Amino acid sequence: MRAELILARGKIRTLGRAGLAPQSHLAIAGGKVFGCGGREVMGLRGPKTRVVDLGGGAVFPGFNDAHAHVVYYGLTRFAADLTGARGIDDVIERLQQHDATLKPGDWLQGMGYRTDELTERRQPHRTELDRATGDRPGFIDERGGHARVANTAALNAAGITSDTPNPHGGRIGRDLNGSPNGLLLESAMRLVADVQPPPPLERRIEGVLKAQELLVSRGITSVGAAVNRGFADDLRAYDTLGCDGRLRMRVNEFLSWELLEATSQLGVRAGFGGRMVRAGPIKVFVDGGAERVATRGGGGVWRTTPEELRELVARATAAGLQVAAHAIGDGAIEAMCDAVEAAGGQHMRHRVEHCTICPPDLQTRLAALGMVAVMQPMAARFGRVASTIFFPVRDRTHLAPHRGLLRARVPVAFSSDLPVSTDPNPWPGIRVAVDDQVNGISMLAALRAYTSTGAYTSFEEGVKGTLEPGMLADLQVYKGDPLEEGAAVDWENLRPRAVLLGGVKVFGSL
Ligand SMILES: [Zn+2]
Repeated sequence: MRAELILARGKIRTLGRAGLAPQSHLAIAGGKVFGCGGREVMGLRGPKTRVVDLGGGAVFPGFNDAHAHVVYYGLTRFAADLTGARGIDDVIERLQQHDATLKPGDWLQGMGYRTDELTERRQPHRTELDRATGDRPGFIDERGGHARVANTAALNAAGITSDTPNPHGGRIGRDLNGSPNGLLLESAMRLVADVQPPPPLERRIEGVLKAQELLVSRGITSVGAAVNRGFADDLRAYDTLGCDGRLRMRVNEFLSWELLEATSQLGVRAGFGGRMVRAGPIKVFVDGGAERVATRGGGGVWRTTPEELRELVARATAAGLQVAAHAIGDGAIEAMCDAVEAAGGQHMRHRVEHCTICPPDLQTRLAALGMVAVMQPMAARFGRVASTIFFPVRDRTHLAPHRGLLRARVPVAFSSDLPVSTDPNPWPGIRVAVDDQVNGISMLAALRAYTSTGAYTSFEEGVKGTLEPGMLADLQVYKGDPLEEGAAVDWENLRPRAVLLGGVKVFGSL
């Protein structure tokens, strides 16, 4: 066999055994890395081999964004974009503009605002939304995915009145007289979501394509596609694109906890699927977001109680399925550790998503239980600001404890949580994780968290995540070498010049 493509005279960082030490040449054949090393790699050249001179440009394995809401992000591209809205009037105006583009019977959706970015510093009231939406049912989602405001028509469609009790793990916002004000927190969001007509498969497919365009342009070749709800249509959307040859990234699709029974009855086990689309972990929410995280000190919201979690993890483990548990507070992380221990699930690589407040005793437990922490490195920056508001003083040093977790030998995988992070570019997060004064880690460790450990979360560390011979040729090529240019690099705007998936170009040019 001869190489199909040789990348020559570059700074190729395999992130495998050689760590950050660069090689100069990399050969690709059959979608995999065929050889990597110095000039001797040119010996793999045949009459049809294409040779690309990188002129000193860097090459890294493709990033693995282990937790990004691909379909949700895609669908929001068809909603009113409220990102960066400065005040409630701004929100209303954007909703009005979007309303004009809708057909009768459509629901109006908006997303991307944050209350702490609005001058009023509060959620809009349903009657304020009514000004923009009239009789059309509609709601807006706060960036972060834990709060939603519905208009009057949407509350009526869901039958929510003053008499409606708060659902388990959620809260309905109310005026002083007890009538609903439109705000729906955590699991209360479902009351309205359940009566909204689900978007058709075609719309989901278009949404995936929009998300893919963004992700691939950031060097991301593998994604853990997170979900909040159970739509079998998501898996079908990815598979349709995969079969049509339009999928340009590898997808590890989360399955909502509601699908656990159906999934296990089908015989789906962890790692089910091919190299492009596979059935990923069962996703469950343990606690809420922001001030609703469940800490050991009490407080917070339990979207799934510790007892329910124990039952779910036991059932999943018995069925050979991995669980990805949204757990931000130490109380929620501890509950997940208890559940995995009780289930004897040490071999399943059960995941803690976010793992934001994780003190040393829990770090040790996660390691002993063979669990994985899937974190968002940007939380280290955001969290230190937010922590002064939400978290007790004792929790702040154990916030985003990347270093402690790695020292305790917990595999740490990084992710964007798109659209919570509006741009999934991994580089600013890598920088934050390295530069963090409290829990900083090495550049190599940060890069591995965004590559090989992501592969580990989906049981694929033997096939992707490094550029060692035999691994999938999922890689990204840069004009220069960001690791050597250091301070001169604009990390926010750093983009690969080309991205290859299985040796085939999926972005940019070579
Ligand atoms: Zn998420």
